[in-house]
Amino acid sequence: MATTHTLGFPRIGAQRELKFALESYWNGSSTREQLLQVGSRIRQQNWSQQQQAGQARVTVNDFSLYDQVLDHSCLLGVIPARFQDGSSDGFDTAFRMARGRAPSGTAVRACEMTKWFDTNYHYLVPELEAQQRFTLSPDTLLAEIAEARAGGFDVKPVLIGPVTYLWLAKSAGESFDRLQLLPALLQAYGELFTILAREGVEWLQIDEPILVQELEPAWQQALETAYQALSGAGPKLLLTTYFGNLGDNLSLALSLPVQGFHLDAVRGGLEYRRVLAELGDDQVLSLGVVDGRNIWKTDLSARLNELQSVSEQLGDRLWLASSCSLQHVPVDLAQETAFDAQLRNWMAYAVQKLEELQLLEASLNGGNVAAALADNALALAGRRSSDRVHRESVKQRCQRLSLKDGERGLAYAQRAPRQRERLQLPAFPTTTIGSFPQTPAIRQTRAGFRRGELSEADYVARMQAEIADCILRQETCGLDMLVHGEAERNDMVEYFGELLQGYAVSQNGWVQSYGSRCVKPPVIYGDVYRDAAMTVQWSRYAQSLTSKPVKGMLTGPVTMLQWAFVRDDQPRQQTCLQVALALRDEVCELESAGIAAIQIDEPAIREGLPLKRSEWDHYLDWAVYAFRVSACGVAPETQIHTHMCYSEFNGIIEAIAAMDADVITIETSRSNMTLLDAFIDFEYPSEIGPGVYDIHSPNVPEVAQMEALMKKAAERIPAERLWVNPDCGLKTRGWEEVGPSLENMVAAAKRLRAGL
Ligand code: GLN
Ligand code: ZN
Repeated sequence: MATTHTLGFPRIGAQRELKFALESYWNGSSTREQLLQVGSRIRQQNWSQQQQAGQARVTVNDFSLYDQVLDHSCLLGVIPARFQDGSSDGFDTAFRMARGRAPSGTAVRACEMTKWFDTNYHYLVPELEAQQRFTLSPDTLLAEIAEARAGGFDVKPVLIGPVTYLWLAKSAGESFDRLQLLPALLQAYGELFTILAREGVEWLQIDEPILVQELEPAWQQALETAYQALSGAGPKLLLTTYFGNLGDNLSLALSLPVQGFHLDAVRGGLEYRRVLAELGDDQVLSLGVVDGRNIWKTDLSARLNELQSVSEQLGDRLWLASSCSLQHVPVDLAQETAFDAQLRNWMAYAVQKLEELQLLEASLNGGNVAAALADNALALAGRRSSDRVHRESVKQRCQRLSLKDGERGLAYAQRAPRQRERLQLPAFPTTTIGSFPQTPAIRQTRAGFRRGELSEADYVARMQAEIADCILRQETCGLDMLVHGEAERNDMVEYFGELLQGYAVSQNGWVQSYGSRCVKPPVIYGDVYRDAAMTVQWSRYAQSLTSKPVKGMLTGPVTMLQWAFVRDDQPRQQTCLQVALALRDEVCELESAGIAAIQIDEPAIREGLPLKRSEWDHYLDWAVYAFRVSACGVAPETQIHTHMCYSEFNGIIEAIAAMDADVITIETSRSNMTLLDAFIDFEYPSEIGPGVYDIHSPNVPEVAQMEALMKKAAERIPAERLWVNPDCGLKTRGWEEVGPSLENMVAAAKRLRAGL
């Protein structure tokens, strides 16, 4: 009989309880005990959900107060020296590693954070010394096992596998081969396995998601070494992979001496059939048949058709699960109030996904769940044929797209003099990335309008006052190209999600991004189009107040896709093109309204890169084309800007250049302009604004410091192609820093001009 289990459950709580408990602990309003109680309640809740869904074992160690990779570092004793000053105990040390500070202990530079594979979840990068020692601190893990058992639950702990842990880490100082630490690390894992076996743990889920990426031979070898060394040391191992198929690593994975495999049967497609053919007689196969990365209902009948024979072949050696941990989807659709009944009927959050697994299990095991399956079929059929999903005119417009729609009339070299003529900017023109401080007053105005306490006319008047204030301040600072300030936007994606057709914005669809920070991705459920202008009134108003050019400000098609839950009934690139066309209309309308420069932000283009390198080109082709479709409806005289806030362009610089923006602004201040080397090596053709100050810091940057950075930039890029701007938007900062910082930035630009 097939059984079901959970790879991991969201830990933020159905009402983001953990977020609020963490923040209150950090700012001193509550005690450690209170925080721990909230954590414990969430775990009990999660385990109850799993038990209610008929799961024989609940997952333990998927909970974390901040991040599971950080927890593994603490478990393994990977605590960088700067945190070991005796100023905090282990509990607060973990928070200092995560955030640089905690209620106790000295403030210190936090560990680096980066994206967990191709998700929007961020983990804390372990810092390893060349002589790193690993010392186990299994108390938290063991306490959670005990806690679950005390609650009457049988447990299946989860651990990140040793090779993936090493792969996620970085060298603390001078770079060295992390694999040389494998033997020591394996010793620690071995000890841990022994402890778990002694605790009577039967199954251990061991995650090695790096197996879905192309691996160098040394890393493949490491996997072999690791599992040879660990086999037989402890509980039975369920070697778990997700976010793709195994591809070239299939034989390697199958050769590892483990008692079971979990495969992603959503993004990994039908590869599991090959595994099925080679599975050992006593090995378990866990299939991730419910999408852990998206919020759509599973097509249960289709899955059952597929699974019937597998179930007959494997019996109780078939386990069913979500494709990956459910931490990447919101908790409970029952707590969602924003969607109408029809839309909601197409969706499943984490709790509903457990119910889907339960239905699959019941049906395979001969239970009578016909009524539930019929409901599921009805919901899916409704979605498939709904005219909310399908809009013929959008599909046709997409089909009619040709290469020409992705081309500006003239090349950059011919556009640039025309834009110069029109814009009349000085050398080293100064600008900002778009947003200005989101003051409490601004937030209150937006919230009041949302609650219906403010009339539309009052709202518009207040927003216009904010824009006027923002324009005045920019003129006072002496900036050359202004922005309207984005006061009307809660979030750069959600704002457009609310205005575009085919998008829906949830009320409670929170997903953890890092620590206490959660995001609420909008849902793209249907063909996307724009039925009215979205930003034109604000930009036009801003431009009416000044003789300086005001930049229009939009979020690009790839970012609009990347930071949303995307429909799964057509290729992502198709959806992206629809968004691009909607944005193109907006770009053209801004141009008609007299806006001479339009910025289309694409901060998410790089994180959309597929995990397998061999798939990069295909992705970059359609992503770049989508950007160009959004940008290329305008005349050569109109200047297109884009913005990306990261400093790593290796391997994608050619694609960035192919976006053919007239100006790109990027994050560089923290990399001391060395990032620009990538742009020179490639002979990047158009204009660049390397960020000269770090907006993440409250410090006011000095004139000389910014001037020096720009001089470095000018050694690399011809001065006539350089802009002067901050690293990113200023919405999280206060005016008291922003004003002086921008004045200094303008002063630096003036000195640079004087030196020409
Ligand atoms: N225009 C946006 C802003 O200034 C860009 C934000 C971003 O790069 N993430 O806030
Ligand atoms: Zn940015």
